[in-house]
Amino acid sequence: MIANILRVETLNTDSYEYSNMTPDATIDRRSYLKAVGAVGATGAVAGCTGSGDGEDGEDDGTEVINPGTAPGFPPFEYTEDGELVGFDVDLAEAAIERAGYEVGEWTEIEFDSLIPSLTQGNLDLIAAAMTINEERQQQIAFTDPYYESDQAVLVAEDSDLSPESVDDLADQRVGAQSGTTGQDEVDTLVDDGIVSADDTRQYDNYTLGVQDLENGNVDALIIDIPVAQNFADGRAVSIAFTIETGEVYGMGMRQDDDRLADINDALAELQDDGTYDELVAEWFE
Ligand code: GLN
Repeated sequence: MIANILRVETLNTDSYEYSNMTPDATIDRRSYLKAVGAVGATGAVAGCTGSGDGEDGEDDGTEVINPGTAPGFPPFEYTEDGELVGFDVDLAEAAIERAGYEVGEWTEIEFDSLIPSLTQGNLDLIAAAMTINEERQQQIAFTDPYYESDQAVLVAEDSDLSPESVDDLADQRVGAQSGTTGQDEVDTLVDDGIVSADDTRQYDNYTLGVQDLENGNVDALIIDIPVAQNFADGRAVSIAFTIETGEVYGMGMRQDDDRLADINDALAELQDDGTYDELVAEWFE
């Protein structure tokens, strides 16, 4: 059950406790759902940002959840032929619909702006491969974990540099996307005296970072493994080594938004009925 919803890639999951995802909790939720009927359809309205229109243009009373993301993070969210696509896009839409809500307009902004936009009410749900951590939990609430990842160190394919550990990054130019856990790793390199602050690079999105890597303007990028793998498959970059961080992703919602429980129930259902695995197969395999 637990192992299904969290994709085990190249990392060790033992360090994490998923107490919120125990089979017992699932059974409890199930019987609860049976007792109250359809998920979310008559749910609490806290944080409601609007109602959907029926096919006849009349307001059909369905609450809208407006999702937001930061494209440029394939295969979780990116733009293809002008269209926003990716695993997070499909999973978030499936969860919103399964929970009985209507999918509103997607907001596409820089990663750094997602949390402020959510708390200000410009969007209702962040689906952006966002790692659950304490700093963010002080500002927003997260759904149950839906994916797990460590960090990878990406270098140019033709680079002379072939680092095998963080110590090998000494005095190199190292970058990440602003506001990410990858940037936290870069900051740690600076704090540990391995890399000089002047040699760090911050990008509005990782696509720009990969370009800089290919052009020789930066020596290494620190980035979530699945996305590093995706870039390594299609661009002139490769994974040099990985850093075990034991991160898990959650979707973000406002702390006072009661619909979070419905989204969690929906995520669990999508896992149980195989939809989650189908999406994983579609976007990662
Ligand atoms: N998982 C990383 C984080 O939460 C990166 C997310 C991203 O760049 N979209 O910081």
